Amino acid sequence: MNHQKMYLQPGLYLVATPIGTARDITLRALDILASADVIAAEDTRSMRRLLEIHGVPLGDRKILSYHDHSGDKSRTAILGHIAAGRSVAYGSEAGTPLIADPGYHLSREVTEAGYPVTSAPGPSAVVTALSLAGLPTDAFFFAGFLPNASGARKKALTELRDIPGTLVFYESPRRVAAMLADAAEVLGATRQAAVCRELTKKFEEVRRGGLAELAASYDDAPKGEIVVLIDRAGDEARDEGDIETALETALQTMSVRDAAESVARAFGAHKRGVYQLALKLSAKQG
Ligand code: SAM
Repeated sequence: MNHQKMYLQPGLYLVATPIGTARDITLRALDILASADVIAAEDTRSMRRLLEIHGVPLGDRKILSYHDHSGDKSRTAILGHIAAGRSVAYGSEAGTPLIADPGYHLSREVTEAGYPVTSAPGPSAVVTALSLAGLPTDAFFFAGFLPNASGARKKALTELRDIPGTLVFYESPRRVAAMLADAAEVLGATRQAAVCRELTKKFEEVRRGGLAELAASYDDAPKGEIVVLIDRAGDEARDEGDIETALETALQTMSVRDAAESVARAFGAHKRGVYQLALKLSAKQG
């Protein structure tokens, strides 16, 4: 037996559950599920199955269904249990509650009502993907699911273009190729990325490459669950902007050739590319 029954203070316990392999649950999560007076879940069937797998007896407890959009009634019921001195464990369908999953409104209301909220941390696809993608993890931005329509998706990607960290998205397998193609268009074909699929499961896969290359690698929609990670804009992109600004300034006092030479030297960049850009800018300036 992996769990221990214990006394839990009244309050809300947010319990992380596995994102694939059932044994990726913490011992404390099992203790809380075994001990809570009330269990609430986004998906009552998968919670019941998880309890069965780990031999946690449900006893005479019912599993309440709760989604943030299931409305005030179920929230009021959970708050009522806590007000009556009961402990409530809440788990979403997979991973950590509130991370692209329900629980936000519930935990806010419980906190606002003055009752304790605590977490039994565990798996989440964001962190698992970051640890495997091979992209920098010093700073990252989790953007959840992008809009489904291409126009809205490109607009959202444009807003994220200059964030100085790895971008992390949840994506459906049906849309991943289109999403990568839009990202290649907006963020640059060679920007590095990774597609993490079926994490912690039998067919776990991490595909790495430039955005355009990755988009082209999906002929058919892949199977399973997916996280897409995209590197921040590289030095080349940052330098490009800086080179353009320096050229604009130089062109106010120098010929195209001299401006190109001086800026290329300052940035250690290829003369030819900088000269082409200087020509374009000078034509624009008239
Ligand atoms: N709360 C969950 C968490 O903490 O990761 C996320 C729930 S969200 C509704 C479901 C999405 O998470 C999936 O569509 C997929 O993008 C991602 N996801 C969940 N499990 C995954 C897995 N095993 N491998 C890859 N992505 C996963």
